[in-house]
Amino acid sequence: SMIAEIIAVGSEMLTPYRQDTNSLAMTAELNKLGVTVAFKTILGDTFQHLVDAAKIALTRADIVLFSGGLGPTEDDLTREAVASALGVGMTRNETVVEGLKQRFAKRGLVIQEINFKQADVIDGAKLLPNPNGTAPGQWMATEYGGKPRYIALLPGPPKELLPMFVEQVRPRLQQVIPRLHIAYRWLRMAVVPESEVDARTSPIYLSYPDVSTTILSTGGEIQLHFLCAKPTLEEAQERVDEVLSKCEHEMMDSVFSADGESLEQVVLLMLGMRHLTLSTAESCTGGLIAERLTAVSGSSRSFLGGAVVYSDELKALFADVPKELIQKHGAVSDPVARAMAEGIRARIGSDLAIGVTGIAGPGGATLNKPVGRVYIALADAEGTQVRELNLSGDRERVRWFASQYALVMLRQ
Ligand code: ATP
Ligand code: MG
Repeated sequence: SMIAEIIAVGSEMLTPYRQDTNSLAMTAELNKLGVTVAFKTILGDTFQHLVDAAKIALTRADIVLFSGGLGPTEDDLTREAVASALGVGMTRNETVVEGLKQRFAKRGLVIQEINFKQADVIDGAKLLPNPNGTAPGQWMATEYGGKPRYIALLPGPPKELLPMFVEQVRPRLQQVIPRLHIAYRWLRMAVVPESEVDARTSPIYLSYPDVSTTILSTGGEIQLHFLCAKPTLEEAQERVDEVLSKCEHEMMDSVFSADGESLEQVVLLMLGMRHLTLSTAESCTGGLIAERLTAVSGSSRSFLGGAVVYSDELKALFADVPKELIQKHGAVSDPVARAMAEGIRARIGSDLAIGVTGIAGPGGATLNKPVGRVYIALADAEGTQVRELNLSGDRERVRWFASQYALVMLRQ
């Protein structure tokens, strides 16, 4: 996008008593047009400093706005300095000369020669009428160092500058600023460390400097956000799609959505597409998996229901887990998770079933089973797979991550 520099001219702003406020109002307007103000320069009324500042600004900014120094006095030097920086002359505008003469005559004043310098127009510039004062402004679309440059000279008094900027400069800028279109997409990944995502995807996204990429980590989920602004929406979308699909390919094992859907939505979508039903038997997650699935509207198509079987008795009563199995291996074990999934699946008659048992903490740890140990079983017609997890963090985190892993298993 385009960048602007504002040059505030006036020795009074280099004293402790006056501040440049014109640039604040202009910056607000420029930002709304998508223009970044990258530089502000405040200068005294010294000709050579003004020429130097103008040249530097024209080298580094697309848009250069001058405030002040357009009056009739010796120290008003902006016009002359800008003409000199550009290496062009000035031509006295006779209409402005006439207007000045009439203004003075009306007030019964004798006009001095020096007043006429307000009628000097930089060659190639257009005059901007000043309805609230005598010094007109100037606008110029030119080239500097082979690059297009847009220049405005405006009088210093805010009551004169601000209406001129809004009514005359802004519409001219709007015509030359390319209107940018923004494309935005994001990737969602589950149960993968942020550092791993960054290590694997940064070589990809760093090669797209025109796409702004943000990595976000939130509760067992990593998100990669891609944003690109281009003159056409197609261009912006193309860039975003390209970097997103490369990162998606790299992270294929963890990506669950490239279109914004939640993990729950993706799981239900896949179950729906395959015409599969699901039930759950939850111990340490206390119904969290069922709660997350049923939060999605339309979930009844695939999710039949389940049981919270927190105690050993209820594991036996509702999921048909043999008491001896619990006695032999402990409630938090691979065989019990397996039996929970298989038991609830047989009871409910679903195609798939999840069984979860674990130690959420802070208590409950045993010698060989620490807090954070969780077993998740997924049973289907072919058999049952069990995943052992060793999660870190507090009770809330362990429970949330256990549900996250269960959903990830269902997605695969
Ligand atoms: P004039 O015809 O009034 O002399 P000018 O274009 O020469 O106009 P300056 O002489 O630089 O403008 O400034 C006139 C007054 O406008 C200053 O005394 C100050 O009060 C105010 N002014 C100038 N520049 C700024 C600024 N950047 N921000 C706020 N006020 C300003
Ligand atoms: Mg002045």
